[in-house]
This record gives sequence, structure tokens and C-alpha cells, in this order.
Amino acid sequence: MTKKLGWIGLGNMGQPMVTRLLNAGFDVTVYNRTRSKAEPFAAMGAKIADSPRELAAGVDTVITMVSDGETLEEVLFGEGGVLSGITAGQTVIDMSTVGPEPVQKAATEFAARGAKFLEAPVSGSVGPAKDGTLVILVGGDEAAYEAHKPVFDVLGKASFHFGENGQGANAKLAINLMLGVFLQGLSEALVLGSKAGLDRETLLKAIAQTAVAAPIVLGKTPSILADEFPAAFALKHMEKDFGLALHTAKKTEASLPVTSSAHQTYVAAKANGLGDHDLMAVLTQLERMAGLK
Ligand code: NAP
Repeated sequence: MTKKLGWIGLGNMGQPMVTRLLNAGFDVTVYNRTRSKAEPFAAMGAKIADSPRELAAGVDTVITMVSDGETLEEVLFGEGGVLSGITAGQTVIDMSTVGPEPVQKAATEFAARGAKFLEAPVSGSVGPAKDGTLVILVGGDEAAYEAHKPVFDVLGKASFHFGENGQGANAKLAINLMLGVFLQGLSEALVLGSKAGLDRETLLKAIAQTAVAAPIVLGKTPSILADEFPAAFALKHMEKDFGLALHTAKKTEASLPVTSSAHQTYVAAKANGLGDHDLMAVLTQLERMAGLK
């Protein structure tokens, strides 16, 4: 079982995930571009590395949880990156959402150094990250996946191995496009309700009793009623994920008409300054379009 872990990326998701690993007794070294976010973890028993290379040199497994594909390239292959500190026998696991191409490239690069690479993006936001109830979607070497089950079991309620590198990434995009489309659908229902003069709280209570009452409706209800959307999952990341899903769709000739349309709403929301808000702020964008704001 892997004991010494290195963790890169202490954003909204990385912080609660590392906290769980430390509480579970793992030996964890952390690196974050903005060092001030890493410092509180020293008091919890983590070591802090000054670069991805330094981090990689002292651990069995490196885990990355960063914004996007460009950032992943930077921390893996940039100056002082993980690749420059890796040795044969180590494993690198990316848990960010970056799509299939960056992870396939990374798998090839690390294999050339005798290291293994898994992608293991997650479904579930900050709440499930805190509770250890993420769903983990894995692609890459099956033996490496099995060897890291103890890590995945601390972070998630379930993990699924989809096959070769890229397939975990594709599974994540399939699930996330449903999330973005669904929250646009919920928002459109609320906009129609407001325009027709329905009480929003009563409408949400009614929706919660119907067949379309997904857990996310209950989860987002307090922020909808408060009309405040601090980011758990930033809207800019959802917009990125739509782009990645549509890229795969283009390559595979999958026709995704609703996804294409919803993507444009998120593009507009981001262009209108809502990118750093929670993705539920797609409601704000639709309210503006309907003249409600
Ligand atoms: P976040 O809060 O925006 O954090 C991004 C992390 O990436 C931070 O640690 C940031 O470092 C680092 N980073 C950004 N640019 C960098 C660069 N050029 N070099 C080095 N590090 C850089 O993102 P998050 O919400 O934790 O999400 C992380 C990933 O998980 C994303 O791919 C997202 O799509 C995915 N995801 C998120 C959620 C969610 O609900 N939040 C759920 C499922 C999947 P600094 O602190 O220095 O900025």
C-alpha cells in the first residue's frame, strides 16, 4: 500500500481532500503555487515542498488537483515540474478535470521514465470532498488503480476503472455535461416561475418532491434563495468542461445539441463576470437574459 503521498493543488477541492488523507494517517507532502494556502497544512502534519520537482523526489505517489490542462502541463512538465523529479516505480495520479488528451500525453511521458500514470477525476463538489463521498472515475494501469484503492477509499464512496488512460477523463466529461445541462434546466424553470409570478421558495419545495429532485437541487436551494453564489465548483470550470466534452464529441461524431446550447449560456455567464462564482450562477445569467435583473 502506498504510504508517502505528494499533493499538488490546494484549491477548493484539494484542501478538503488532503485534510481527509492527513486525518486517515497518510504521510503527505503538499505543494501549492500560492504557498500561503499550503502553510495551514503543516500544523496538520504535512510537509511543504517548494516545487513539484522537490515534492516528487520524496514520495511514492504524486497526486495533482489543479485547474485545467494547461496548469497540469505546467506542474508536470514545466521548469521544476514533477517529471524532472520522478524516478522509476513511482506513480502519478491526476484528479483534475482536463479531458483525455493531456492525461494520455502524461501517461506516455511518465511511462518513458518507468513511472505509472492514472487519471482519476472526481464527481462531487466541496461537500462530498469533505465527507469522502466523491465518485472517482479512473483510467490507466489497472494494477496501479488496485494499489491505490486505499487512497481512493478515503476520498470517495465509489471508484470505477474505465480502462486505458483517457477513459476516466471521458467518463467525467459525460457526467459533468449532465450537471451543467441540469442546472441550466433548473434555472430556466425558476426563471419561468418568476416571470409567471410563482413564489420561488414554494416552487423549489414542490420540485424537491418530484421525480426531478436530484440531490443537487436540495444542495443548491439555500444559495438560490439567498441569491448568493460563492464558488464550490466555479462556473469557469463548468464552462471548461463543456468545451472538453464538445471537443470529444467532435472527435467521436457524437451529436450533443442540448450540451452545445447550454455551453453558450455558460460562455455568456463567464463573459459577464460570473466565472468565479459557483456554477449555479448560471441562474443569474438567465435572469439577466429574461430581464429579471
Ligand atoms: P480551484 O479552487 O480553482 O483551484 C485550482 C488549483 O490549481 C489551485 O491550487 C491553484 O493554485 C492551482 N493552479 C492554478 N493555476 C496554476 C498554475 N499556473 N500553476 C500552478 N498551480 C496552479 O479549483 P478546484 O475547484 O479545486 O478544482 C480543481 C479541479 O477539479 C478542476 O479541474 C475542476 O474542474 C475539478 N473539479 C472541481 C470540482 C468542484 O466542485 N470544485 C468538482 C469536481 C471536479 P493557486 O492556489 O496558487 O491559485
